[in-house]
Amino acid sequence: MAYVYDDQNIFAKILRGEIPNDTVYEDDYALAFRDIQPQAPVHVLVIPKGPYVTYDHFANTASEAEIVGYTRAIGKVCAFLGVEPGNGGRGYRTIANTGEAGVQEVPHLHTHILGGRMLGRMLKRFDD
Ligand code: 5GP
Repeated sequence: MAYVYDDQNIFAKILRGEIPNDTVYEDDYALAFRDIQPQAPVHVLVIPKGPYVTYDHFANTASEAEIVGYTRAIGKVCAFLGVEPGNGGRGYRTIANTGEAGVQEVPHLHTHILGGRMLGRMLKRFDD
C-alpha cells in the first residue's frame, strides 16, 4: 500500500509556520527543532521539508538532492549540538520511530538526535 501523507500532522503545521518551534537549524531541505518533551539534555528532531511519512518512504521516493540535503543537515545539527565523538563530543543516538511497531506518533519522517547523558542499551533485550 502506498503512503498517503496527512498534511494536517503536527510537523506539517510546524513547517508551514502555523505552530511555533525552537529551531536549531534550517535549510532548503530540512528543519531541526528541540523536542517539546525532551528525553535527554539534548533532544532535537530533524525533519525533511518534503511530505514523507517514514524513513523508507523517504529513502525510496525522495530525490537524490533531498536525500543528500537531509543527511547533511543531520550532520550539521550534530556539529551544532557538539555531540560528535570525532570532535570531542560524548556521542548521541539517532532514532527514526516508524509505524505501529516502531511507535511513531507523528506521521512525518523525523530523526531524533538524543545526547547529553548516558543513554543505556538501545532496546530492552527479550530476556531482560
Ligand atoms: P515519535 O514517537 O513520532 O518518534 O516522536 C514524536 C516526537 O515529537 C515526540 O518526542 C514528541 O515529544 C514530539 N512532539 C510532538 N508534538 C510536538 C510539537 O508540537 N513540538 C515539538 N517540538 N515536538 C513535538
